[in-house]
Amino acid sequence: MEIDINEKQVYSSTELNKVEAETIEALRMGSQQVIPDPDEWLAQELKGNVLLTTVDFFLNWARRSSLWTMLCFPACCAMEFMSASASRFDLSRFGMEILRASPRQADLMITAGTLTWKMAPQIKRIYDQMAEPKWVIAMGACAITGGTFAQSYSVVPGYNHLIPVDVYVPGCPPRPEALIHAIQMLQDKIAKRKNL
Ligand code: SF4
Repeated sequence: MEIDINEKQVYSSTELNKVEAETIEALRMGSQQVIPDPDEWLAQELKGNVLLTTVDFFLNWARRSSLWTMLCFPACCAMEFMSASASRFDLSRFGMEILRASPRQADLMITAGTLTWKMAPQIKRIYDQMAEPKWVIAMGACAITGGTFAQSYSVVPGYNHLIPVDVYVPGCPPRPEALIHAIQMLQDKIAKRKNL
């Protein structure tokens, strides 16, 4: 700003204060960037980083996405389970590529095969030792009703005579697609579970 030194400038003290305040404000506005509104900044930050959900939804999402299967394959349906686990059908897409030999580390039992009464106490004991919450898929005609051997004195006519079954997969043996469909049905069931 150019100052005309010939111009006579006489200010009262009130005028002087006013001129001084205007000069300072003009300098401040010209030399500083506008400070961002803190509330607006916080709202943007929360929008990008905070997700609200319910405890039930979160627990069910974690459980259905990481089913750990107990090894329990007493007969030929096990071959189809192996096929489902291999690269073509790729069960690991559903978070369940881990098979456990210990029932204490498993929450899903896939009963793939014929069960005899002699083996029944062991299956019951394994189920009882599994961690809660736990689920059972009965895979194949033998697991559902005893199948071809249903009339035999030595065969259990379905696992549901011993333990609660959540999903049944018919077939002799069921194809891997059928097993995957059963797992998706079980995941839907877990998603609706009330935990609290
Ligand atoms: S349902 Fe068929 S394939 Fe499966 S265990 Fe029984 S006989 Fe074997």
